[in-house]
Parts: sequence; C-alpha cells; structure tokens
Amino acid sequence: MSHSGLDKLTVIGAGVLGGQIAWHSAYTGKTVVVYDPYDDALDRCREAQQQYAIIYAQDLNASTEDIAATRERLSFSSDLATAVAEADVVIEAAPEIPDVKTALYQDLAPLLPAETIVATNSSTLLPSQFAEASGRPDKFCSLHFANLIWSMNLAEVMAHSTTSQHTILAITRFAIEIGMVPIPLQKEHNAYVINSMLVPLLQAAQTLVTNGISTAETIDRTYMIMNRGCALGPCGIIDVVGMKTVYDILSYWGAENDDQQMLINAEYIKQHFIDKGHMGLLSGQGYYHYPEPAYQSADFLDVPDISRAEEFASLVGV
Ligand code: NAD
Repeated sequence: MSHSGLDKLTVIGAGVLGGQIAWHSAYTGKTVVVYDPYDDALDRCREAQQQYAIIYAQDLNASTEDIAATRERLSFSSDLATAVAEADVVIEAAPEIPDVKTALYQDLAPLLPAETIVATNSSTLLPSQFAEASGRPDKFCSLHFANLIWSMNLAEVMAHSTTSQHTILAITRFAIEIGMVPIPLQKEHNAYVINSMLVPLLQAAQTLVTNGISTAETIDRTYMIMNRGCALGPCGIIDVVGMKTVYDILSYWGAENDDQQMLINAEYIKQHFIDKGHMGLLSGQGYYHYPEPAYQSADFLDVPDISRAEEFASLVGV
C-alpha cells in the first residue's frame, strides 16, 4: 500500500500554523477538524482562512470549486473529545510552551481512537519530551511545517527512540499526499533542520535591533542584497512567524541556556510589539505594515537617489 491511510485529520491549535496546516490539508483532500479551546481563536482562524482562500486562488490558481470543496472538508470544534473522535492522525500546533503541550497530551490520550497517529508541529521541542504524555509513544513523532505552508512546502519528520517504522512511513506518506517535500531527520535535534539555520539568523537580527545597532529595514536590506532573489529578510520573517511564537522561543531558550541576550530580545519583542497588539503579519503590523510592507516596494534594494542621503545618514549613530 502506498497510501498513508490517514484521511481524517484533527489539528489542535487554531493559531498561525494550525490554521495553515488545516486549510492546506483540506485543500489537498483531507477531511479536517480544527480544535482550539478558545472560541475567539477559532473565529480568528476562520478569518485567516478567508485570506488563505484569496491567496490560494491567486498563487495556486485554485478554482471556486476547489475553495468550496476545501471549506466543505473543514469543521471547527472547541470540544476536544468530539474533535478527535474519528481522527486517523492528529497534528498538534498548540503554543510552544512545554507544560501546555504536556497537559494537552495528557488530556488527549484517553480520548483518542486506538490507531490514531499523533504528531507535534513544535519548532524547537523534541518528540521524546511528550512521547510518554501522549500515551502512545510508538505512534508519536514530529511533523514540523514551515510558515506559509503553501509556498514553503516542506515537512520535517522527526522520530524518537520508540516511534514505530509504521508511524514514520505513514506520516511521511501523509506529508507527500498533502504536497510537502519530506525532510527526514536522522536523529532528534531541537532545532530540526530549518530552525538550526533560522533561529540563529532571527536572534542575530533581533540583537542588532534590541541593542540599537541597526534598524529592521537596514538589516533586511542587507540580507536581501546578500541573498539576491530572496523575498524578505530576517525582520520580515519575524513578522511572518508572529511575535507570540518568537517571544515564546526566545524566552524559553533564553532561560534554558541562560542566554541573557535572548531574554533581553524576548522582552524587547514583548514591550515593542505584543503589549501594543502588533503581533506580526497576521495582525497587519509587526516590524512592517501589511499588506504592503516596505520590503516589497520596487526600490527597496536600489541604490537610493542622492536626495535620500540625509535619511540614510540620520540612521548612523556616533
Ligand atoms: P499561535 O500562538 O498562533 O497558536 C496557538 C494556538 O493554540 C492558539 O490558537 C491558542 O488559542 C491555542 N491554544 C492555547 N492553549 C491551548 C491548549 N491547551 N490546547 C490547544 N490549543 C491551545 O502559535 P503558532 O505560531 O501557530 O505555533 C503553534 C505551534 O506551531 C508551536 O509549537 C510552534 O513552535 C509551531 N510552529 C510555528 C511556526 C510559526 O512560524 N509560527 C512554524 C512552525 C511551527
């Protein structure tokens, strides 16, 4: 059999990533329930998915019928037992806070059908941290997606010591069925592949901002010139990831590694963005204003007209 057999998906957590995983899986033919304990989070997810419908029509040439069929395959619930009652596979996209995830898995374990496979979408935490709480270590692993799932179509597959081969193969097939390139991890590693590169990059960029060394636009311009052809720089990526998740990652790993700069960066994100409701791309405001962030303007990487020299010079400190 080359089919995963995982046709009914429940996504736990209706935030940035949960909403995207749910929409994309439904778009590619899966029947999907989105669960979140908070009704307002489910409402925000429905609103975000209105945007995804527009993006899929524009970028993926999705037809009106495709969008209607995607909606048809999606349902929403704030009741965990109902949400997972028929799940072949559960993908957890709850906050990146170990205690929250552990408590969730403990609640989830007695509610699941016997054969259900469970995967965490955690960006930085290991499946072995939650395998026991899941109550089904052999059917538990990580399936880590990237933000903007429809264009960053990769899914990192990471097992722990007692994940079964059946689970690894089924989840890999599932990833392919929903249009992802599987990225296999040969051993457990907190940062997976993508975040091994991304987190140090974002931390370096944020440190330049926090310590008043450079502005977000200058940093992104530098990065985008270094990497000609790329569509955004690290501060733009912070907006895409979302301030809440960036804050959770910086504060958790700052405390874990006693990294003072990371903790200061987390506090900066809190004070300058989260406390003001500027949560990043989805809220329309982060480092940039959306839907037309400065880095998308045609002249962002051009040599500026000489008349703008004062504007640039004013950003040089002494
Ligand atoms: P988010 O804050 O946007 O969404 C989290 C959702 O979980 C919210 O809707 C919240 O209401 C819900 N929630 C809160 N408590 C819960 C509970 N006890 N049970 C179930 N749901 C609960 O976060 P996000 O950015 O979507 O991240 C979710 C997970 O996905 C994290 O593990 C994160 O590391 C991972 N991830 C995020 C990104 C990204 O770019 N944002 C990329 C890949 C992976």
